[in-house]
Amino acid sequence: MDGLVNQRNPERFIAEQVHTDRLQQLFRQSVFAVAGSYTGALMLCWLCWDRLSHEEVAGWLSLLTLSTLLRVLMFVMYFRAPEHERTPQRWEFKYWLTLIFSAGVWGGGALLVMPVDDLLSQSLVMLFTVGMSVAAVSCYSAYRYMTLVSMALVLLPCTLWLLFQPSSMQTGIAISVLVFTSFVVSATRKLSDALEQAFRLTREMERAHSISNYAAQTDELTGLKNRRAFFEGAQQLFGDCLHGQRPLCALMLDMDHFKQINDTHGHQVGDHVLRQIGIVISATFRACDVHGRLGGEEFAVLLPDTHVEVARDIAQQVVHAIAALKSEPVQRMTASIGVASTDSGSHDLYHLMNRADEALYRAKALGRNQVAVAG
Ligand code: GH3
Ligand code: MG
Ligand code: MG
Repeated sequence: MDGLVNQRNPERFIAEQVHTDRLQQLFRQSVFAVAGSYTGALMLCWLCWDRLSHEEVAGWLSLLTLSTLLRVLMFVMYFRAPEHERTPQRWEFKYWLTLIFSAGVWGGGALLVMPVDDLLSQSLVMLFTVGMSVAAVSCYSAYRYMTLVSMALVLLPCTLWLLFQPSSMQTGIAISVLVFTSFVVSATRKLSDALEQAFRLTREMERAHSISNYAAQTDELTGLKNRRAFFEGAQQLFGDCLHGQRPLCALMLDMDHFKQINDTHGHQVGDHVLRQIGIVISATFRACDVHGRLGGEEFAVLLPDTHVEVARDIAQQVVHAIAALKSEPVQRMTASIGVASTDSGSHDLYHLMNRADEALYRAKALGRNQVAVAG
């Protein structure tokens, strides 16, 4: 969550995410195109078998097999790569290379096998090249230039050849193909823009959601969990420890004579002290501990898998760390901590916290700047 919220340059971060989303979409959309284009070539060869030169067909299919294997290898490597390695920097260039190779082989091969004297076969070849290039729109729409380049490579060799043939029927077919293609080309822009917009909106919504979640759970002054988030995390942890019969300790911390700090130096200095306490708490506890600011100058921590002696020692370290803090113009700041453990019987969170609170008041009564443990 913090990763999304604390970005220095959110626009750039979102643009990078959208770029990665487009790449993922490209791989997902085009995975079956590899088999489709190979099958298309096989079908074309089968339909025109009697009219084609068999050596040329064999050469074309061998090259297509090679390009198909290269693409399959690339897809396998991409889908097996861990999420963080599936970046445009790593994969776009590879994709471009295999795409140009396979589309070039398809378009060039279709021209090579095109029978010069058989209009029906020529129409069939054109039908397949048009079909292949329209399929490119559905496969590569996340990358408009890939769509255009693959369409051009597949379609143009045969279409241009047909355009310059003597028969008006052949020229007519070529012109019709070019006209239909121009509509498809203009649609590719709208399609890729719409996809990019959808990815951007999704990422912006994710970010807005993270920011509002973060704000709802975080204490603005110290950056620790606020009261609500603390109790949410604490309730969950208490349940886990109870269920797993794991030991759990609660620490309640309250600043000593904090009112005096405010009265003597003003609220701003008091706020600065609270921020420092927040830093001490974040630095002291483990990722599995749950801590937060309950309100005012009161903080609480839950320590899972911790027995009371260890919790008391940790609390003692915190008391020392706070007493050692330097925060001009405040001469002296101290805190008291109450510790309670589920070892000595607490079957709900509020009971445990109340016992830690009672221990805290005992620490205050015993002179402050110290730790007291609930009996
Ligand atoms: P004790 O040692 O008995 O705990 O004395 P105390 O003065 O710390 O206790 P008390 O509860 O009387 O005072 C807490 C003070 O904390 C009162 C309030 O002005 C101050 N306080 C509460 N929230 C904030 C805050 O967000 N910023 C600042 N600067 N002060 C706050
Ligand atoms: Mg206090
Ligand atoms: Mg207090």
